[in-house]
Amino acid sequence: MSTEGGQDRDPEATPDLTRERARTERRDLDKERGEPLAAAGLRRASRSLRTRGRAVGDWSSPPWILVTNDDGIESRGLLALKAALDPIGRTVVVAPETNQSAVGHQKTLMRPLRVRERRLADGSLGWSVDGSPTDAVSLAFLGFFDHGFDLVASGINYGANLGDDITYSGTVSAAMEAVINGCPAFAISQEYYEHPDFTLAAAAARLVARNILEHGLARGELINVNVPAVRPEECEGIEVTRLGRRIYQDELVQRLDPRGIPYYWIGGPPPSGLAVPGTDFHAVVNRRIAVTPIHLDLTGRRLLRRLKTWDWTLELPEKGSGSA
Ligand code: MN
Repeated sequence: MSTEGGQDRDPEATPDLTRERARTERRDLDKERGEPLAAAGLRRASRSLRTRGRAVGDWSSPPWILVTNDDGIESRGLLALKAALDPIGRTVVVAPETNQSAVGHQKTLMRPLRVRERRLADGSLGWSVDGSPTDAVSLAFLGFFDHGFDLVASGINYGANLGDDITYSGTVSAAMEAVINGCPAFAISQEYYEHPDFTLAAAAARLVARNILEHGLARGELINVNVPAVRPEECEGIEVTRLGRRIYQDELVQRLDPRGIPYYWIGGPPPSGLAVPGTDFHAVVNRRIAVTPIHLDLTGRRLLRRLKTWDWTLELPEKGSGSA
């Protein structure tokens, strides 16, 4: 197919602006001295997304690995993930300052972001951001560093992110943000325990990271990993799964504040799920580590076909009517 200009165009190579976006661009040009877009000149492409990956030992320089999470920079899970990946690349920690669990893919646009240099418990330096996991990843890709990243790892989350959970998960959203920025990524979560041991999850994280660096991921792809709350010797291995169905048991709790005004709290027991074989939920219930491929193309293919059979005739006012 050819366009009006008569030239074939690769839509992925030359993106079109929507009208909304085009207006924004024009507004930027209109500024007498337009501020540069957030350090766009410093933006660096990642190395491995579109090219075939290589075994970690064959990289000419160690891969840059961004480590983030949604539980906050002080989480032991974050440190465990960093320690797991230190042997295979140059890790850099950028994470939310506070617990951002279940913020989803929130991006902060209406207030400034503050970044603080932090000394992590292993003695290394990291950065905390007073925003969401997505903000932390955005910052890293929009020029905060003078280099790009080859992989983003998000976790190790306290609590599983199975099936429908991924629509709420800050942990998974951080990985999605990486993919939007053209960098391969995975999220890793562990079923909740009182006193978590991260030995098993750390081994899983290292294996997943090595595999992604070796094989690469295509545009829009990420991997979601869930680790059962079992000791390493009780684990029944790894299963490649699809997303399962969660069953939430949320309850709205109404109480009175000290001034007698009601407030509401979403409470209730933790979610369960449908243990259908082949799903992430079924694997974790059966003491296996679930490795689930995720794609950012959320198009409902079956619904797409059905929608095409519906009547889409717009009813518009006749031309010339309705105006004086
Ligand atoms: Mn969390």
